[in-house]
Amino acid sequence: MRRLRRNRRGFIFFFGWRTLTSQRPEPPVETTCPSCRQQSSIVSMQGRDWFTVFFIPVVPLSSAKQFVKCSSCQTCFDLDIEQFRRKAAVPDERAWQQCIAVYNTLRESPKDSVLLNRLLEMYAGMREFDEALAAGRHFPDALNESAQCLTTYGKVNLAAGKADQAMKYLQMALEKNKAMGEAHFYMGVAYLSSNPPNADAAIASARQAAANGYPNTAEFIRQAEGVRAGQTVK
Ligand SMILES: [Zn+2]
Repeated sequence: MRRLRRNRRGFIFFFGWRTLTSQRPEPPVETTCPSCRQQSSIVSMQGRDWFTVFFIPVVPLSSAKQFVKCSSCQTCFDLDIEQFRRKAAVPDERAWQQCIAVYNTLRESPKDSVLLNRLLEMYAGMREFDEALAAGRHFPDALNESAQCLTTYGKVNLAAGKADQAMKYLQMALEKNKAMGEAHFYMGVAYLSSNPPNADAAIASARQAAANGYPNTAEFIRQAEGVRAGQTVK
């Protein structure tokens, strides 16, 4: 059986994230950090707004917002301090056991896309993006079988800071099903998170998403137009 890696050296930090921020007055939450698993102070911060995937900031946006940061590993989470206090429970041993159970079932049915998609979502929910990426590599038949799986895998790549890889898998999803609104939408997010951002392509993808029934694209398009306007000024 594959041994799950328990250290956190794969976690992604975002250039520019911490330089644009300041600490807020609310008292910190003393708890086990979901990222480094150390007993740590989770402090309340404010800074620029980012577009996030699985709580991970991938595209800087314009307005200021609150978030929290682990004072041990400096990882930022897209929750305000109260949301963190309520929601960001550390993935417990049971969640790991569930992942291992799903993983082992997949080994018996390595073409089961529904199961792989569930495993990817479970890992992403625990911010275990390296584990999710590895699972996709271990079960390529299940991954390549399903537009939904490829889309989720694209989102995991995006959350892991791999916009190029994200685009590759989202494109594969769209080749399977060009009416997949979710894949169009996250393709737009990938365009906006690439360096330099491609706002025109992001807007075109978001419009494709909307045309295929994906909800709540208007705010993203508005933000992408803001990025485009900022680029024009420069
Ligand atoms: Zn930490």
